[in-house]
Amino acid sequence: MSDATSSLHIYNSLSGKKEQFTPIEDKHVGMYVCGPTVYSNVHLGNCRTFISFDLVYRYLKHLGYSVRYVRNITDAGHLEHDADEGEDRISKKARLERIEPMEVVQRYTVDFHQTLAAFNTLPPNIEPTATGHIIEQIEIVKGILASGLAYEVSGSVYFDVQKYNESNNYGILSGRKLEDMIHNTRSLSRQSDKRSPQDFALWKKAEPQHIMRWPSPWGDGFPGWHLECTAMSTKYLGEQFDIHGGGMDLKFPHHECEIAQAQALNQKRPVNTWMHANMLTLNGKKMAKSTGKNILPNELFSGANPVLSKAFSPDVARFFMLHAHYRSILDLSSDALEAAEKGYKRLIQGIELLADLPISDKSSTDINTHISSYFDAMNDDFNSPVLIAQLFETVKLIHRVKQGEDTLSKSDLEKLHKAVHHFVLDVLGLTLTSNQSEDTYLDKALSVLIEMREQARANKDFATADRIRDELLAKGIQLKDGKDGTTYGLSS
Ligand SMILES: [Zn+2]
Repeated sequence: MSDATSSLHIYNSLSGKKEQFTPIEDKHVGMYVCGPTVYSNVHLGNCRTFISFDLVYRYLKHLGYSVRYVRNITDAGHLEHDADEGEDRISKKARLERIEPMEVVQRYTVDFHQTLAAFNTLPPNIEPTATGHIIEQIEIVKGILASGLAYEVSGSVYFDVQKYNESNNYGILSGRKLEDMIHNTRSLSRQSDKRSPQDFALWKKAEPQHIMRWPSPWGDGFPGWHLECTAMSTKYLGEQFDIHGGGMDLKFPHHECEIAQAQALNQKRPVNTWMHANMLTLNGKKMAKSTGKNILPNELFSGANPVLSKAFSPDVARFFMLHAHYRSILDLSSDALEAAEKGYKRLIQGIELLADLPISDKSSTDINTHISSYFDAMNDDFNSPVLIAQLFETVKLIHRVKQGEDTLSKSDLEKLHKAVHHFVLDVLGLTLTSNQSEDTYLDKALSVLIEMREQARANKDFATADRIRDELLAKGIQLKDGKDGTTYGLSS
């Protein structure tokens, strides 16, 4: 294990501070990340969250930790509204598309896996599903009822937030105060069984039309949407574990409720370090499916979205995402992606030069300062933008060595080669695959065609110009005329 492990600091959402990371069990890390609700295609903002935690997982492994990474699949019980009302999102989709709920789950689980694989994220060690852990969830409901912090009303069980708050702090993670929440919420609708609007469902009675239902001591029903994460994290990582992650939007109520459930059940704080990844915006605005201000990963890879000037490879998209710190908001735009693509190519070309640099007897520079700067960046709360900046410093050095302005000994060169590859491939998870060069050939071939078309248009030979455009389109390649000239992407 590297000495660097002792200096890893992580920003803990619970304390609001960067803290030195010490796992509960030496050399082992338990990490739980809230996975997707599989009722639609995974959107790019979620991909950013999972790429952020992939970086965390990869770096912990790189430091020599044995990591158990658990990420769930929510395939039941996730209601449309946080207030425990509305329809189960999966059942709703199934009803609208006239298919079985499990068909919805299967379709979007496959999409999720394919998309995350395209982004070169590593699979978790365990990927449990909510429907596969109904028994465990029922046991937790029983336990919380036994502790006196939940109550049953006509087939549903609710968590008693006010009673819990008498001896615990509901709001410990989000910083919210229960009295403010009570002050700011509408009173309950008459149909509600809850004693107080802040109470949340542990178990919901299934109405006759509800398809996804399981027998329980309280009748047929389904689990509340915070429960599965408590059940699965406790089952696979224990009553107390090291890291719990998720998107910023899950901090409240989801993670706050997870803490309350586990605390009520085990009288222990379940998680030492809470980590939250920030969101991805599109041209400065929050992405929203309803307004069409949204972009799907496959549209990014094909260029088939009006906000994009061209297609971007998953490697470039991943590089773009890691170019911002996971706790900062990242704004996606065509210009920002193009800038990332240029940067990515510069980095790759620099690294490729490492293989045949001139070898000298002595080094003119201390290579260890480069290597330790990579660790320093990542030890500072997984600061990937600083790591990338340091790698660019190394690329400058590589160019200087190539020009003969600096020298490197054989052993230093080997050491640098190894460190750069570890950080670029293993930690940042960039692939450096040969499709980069295929891209280049395609780029070259298309730039010839684009130039021929421009020449034809300049000669007023519009028939030829249109033929080039139409025949490319028939092959699935769409030319786009913009203010900076013509670009191409895959047609949708
Ligand atoms: Zn969760």
